Amino acid sequence: MNRILLKLKDIPSGTSVLSLSEDVESLELQRDEYVFYSPVKIDLEVDKSEQGIMIAGRATVPTQVECARCLSLFADEAGADFHLRYIRTRKEADTEQDSPDDGLYYIRYDESEIDLTDEIRQALVVSLPIRALCDPGCKGLCSLCGANLNEGGCSCSRREGHPAWSALEKLRDGRDAGRPSGE
Ligand SMILES: [Zn+2]
Ligand SMILES: [Zn+2]
Repeated sequence: MNRILLKLKDIPSGTSVLSLSEDVESLELQRDEYVFYSPVKIDLEVDKSEQGIMIAGRATVPTQVECARCLSLFADEAGADFHLRYIRTRKEADTEQDSPDDGLYYIRYDESEIDLTDEIRQALVVSLPIRALCDPGCKGLCSLCGANLNEGGCSCSRREGHPAWSALEKLRDGRDAGRPSGE
């Protein structure tokens, strides 16, 4: 798998803006209701100095998602912002000092590249909603016949006549009949 790497020698000191376009396979994104497509677009603002490298970035990736209510597939885009700081250290980089939750890492002065793959994957995964909806007003599926209610009503909305309702009514009638009279 390709890693998404920032080659530090290609980046001038000071602030620079760059855009990368990567194959989605590099990110190994996995989530049940989602299919992810290339390209992953990554926009970066990089601030490089003697002390370290600061990165403000945004990653976006086209997706196809299954709606949590109506189960239809729809096209969407996942997008996430991320902020990373890489502090240069003269010692051997001490990963125990890293603080991934804060996007803070230590790198050696002579480090030639920064690997952004895991950070970008994590930012995108966290950005995905727990329940994706094709539309905030999605009406979902009829619980009786399974019809997609976004495509119009189904016959179950008329209470009489549906086999599921008449079965319920038989049950209820049966219970009523079994009660002692005179209540
Ligand atoms: Zn839906
Ligand atoms: Zn129905």
